[in-house]
Amino acid sequence: MVNFDPRTMLVVAAFVLFLTGGLTFLAAFQVKRDRTLLWTAAGMWLACLGFLLGVTRGHADLLVLSVIFANMLMITGHACLWTSLRVFAGRPVSWRWLAAGAAVWLMLAQWPRFMADADLRVAIYSVLCLGYIGAALTEIWAEWRQYPRAASPLMAFLIIHGLFYAYRIPPAPPKQVVWQHWPDFALVMFEGLFFAICLSFGVLMMVRARAEQNYRHAALHDALTGLPNRRALFERGQALLAQARASGADIAVLMCDLDWFKQVNDRFGHEAGDRVLVCFAQVLRQVAGEQTLHARLGGEEFVVVAANLGPLGAQALAARLRSHLSAQAGVLPCRLTVSVGVACSRHVGYDLDRLLARADQALYAAKTAGRDCIRVWPAAGTESGSSAAISRSGRRGLGEHPVDA
Ligand code: GH3
Ligand code: MG
Ligand code: MG
Repeated sequence: MVNFDPRTMLVVAAFVLFLTGGLTFLAAFQVKRDRTLLWTAAGMWLACLGFLLGVTRGHADLLVLSVIFANMLMITGHACLWTSLRVFAGRPVSWRWLAAGAAVWLMLAQWPRFMADADLRVAIYSVLCLGYIGAALTEIWAEWRQYPRAASPLMAFLIIHGLFYAYRIPPAPPKQVVWQHWPDFALVMFEGLFFAICLSFGVLMMVRARAEQNYRHAALHDALTGLPNRRALFERGQALLAQARASGADIAVLMCDLDWFKQVNDRFGHEAGDRVLVCFAQVLRQVAGEQTLHARLGGEEFVVVAANLGPLGAQALAARLRSHLSAQAGVLPCRLTVSVGVACSRHVGYDLDRLLARADQALYAAKTAGRDCIRVWPAAGTESGSSAAISRSGRRGLGEHPVDA
């Protein structure tokens, strides 16, 4: 049978842990300082030190190092792993619980029977590590819903590691652990290395999954209002229209444009203008609800794409938007109104570009009609749509209406 020198194995294990910790540490600084990865790296390095101190095993006068400090470091390494997942979940570091495992070990080390009984030590060490593994699993379980693909492997590694420690708790199966004895010692080494390497990859996958989600969110949302942006509107709108076309459901597109918004900026400042946009986005969320797709198209233009809504329902929704906006008068710097153009799949079909273009024409009809109103494409009585005849420049022909302070 292949036999390894235990001390050589300890040094090799320490070296691998040092490298894994180092790479995890570097990864933590790849984009911006990532605390989850920093705690994982700290756990690796503590375990690395623990393995190095383990080299002093067998020297009766160095028991403090090999039995007490080495295991305290290994236990705290597990605590760091739990902390890394806790930090990932957005929870604060619990310094008390972080140090609790090592403190218990230190206290027990004052008990002569504990120092004399290796089986008892293995059992208690395993229980303490299991506690941290269980706590880590609880933290990651809460994140599983959001990142199922990234969290599953990490959970599997933790469960395997936990089962291994559970197996090491006597009396089942009974075993006499003498540290140099192959294969028990080698098994501990290999399991430790397997876990450390898999763990760092697992945590890295989680951190990457979150970063990707954040970037995707930033790419698809408007930074000011938090609403989906133009790109998201087209991405999700196409899917919504394909669904509606398949089921033959109605789709309504509402194009909303705040009236005289430039004057809000000019009179009350850009910041006040921004607050107005945030306020209107809030109105949109409340009134349009989660069932609709609503987005900021750009500037002070917003779009709602609503399924199962015909022209009448769309007008009712637009009317609710207008009345909710006027109810915000107390929190806005001035009285604010919105013009809305509506286009429906019943008249236009299921092409998003066409629906938006028609809603835009209806919106300009609303603007030329004096603003603060709703227009539907096609305009009543004309199938070709009189609003279609109104050009964008038509809006500029109107006299400037100062916003009411
Ligand atoms: P109308 O009634 O015809 O729609 O007139 P309006 O003043 O609302 O429209 P116009 O297109 O003349 O002006 C839109 C203004 O919106 C101009 C631009 O400075 C402002 N704007 C665009 N984006 C933002 C933003 O993110 N924040 C602020 N505060 N203002 C913005
Ligand atoms: Mg406007
Ligand atoms: Mg505009």
